[in-house]
Amino acid sequence: MGVLISCPRCGESEDLNGEQVDGDITVHCLSCDLVWLRDLKPRCDRCTSTDVRPAYEAIVSKSRGTQLSMQSARLVYLCQHCDASKLAEYQITNSPLMPNELPTE
Ligand SMILES: [Zn+2]
Ligand SMILES: [Zn+2]
Repeated sequence: MGVLISCPRCGESEDLNGEQVDGDITVHCLSCDLVWLRDLKPRCDRCTSTDVRPAYEAIVSKSRGTQLSMQSARLVYLCQHCDASKLAEYQITNSPLMPNELPTE
């Protein structure tokens, strides 16, 4: 799914084993042996609120010259508390958000 998860104990994000058990996904860290239940509910990573809305963010790359071209878009979640203005703008324009960091040469 492309959602970055990491071990809450040791921070490992590569050596993880996901396993579906009764509809829930448990994750096993092969680095420190911790097993935890993966929370599938999107959540704001700043205030941990679940008041988030899906939005699309553009994936841009710098082609020849200075022109930025949009390659594709990815799903992100905007927090109604932390990203209020961004979210309002997104709902008005309904066009993909520009990433915070633009590619540089
Ligand atoms: Zn771990
Ligand atoms: Zn938030």
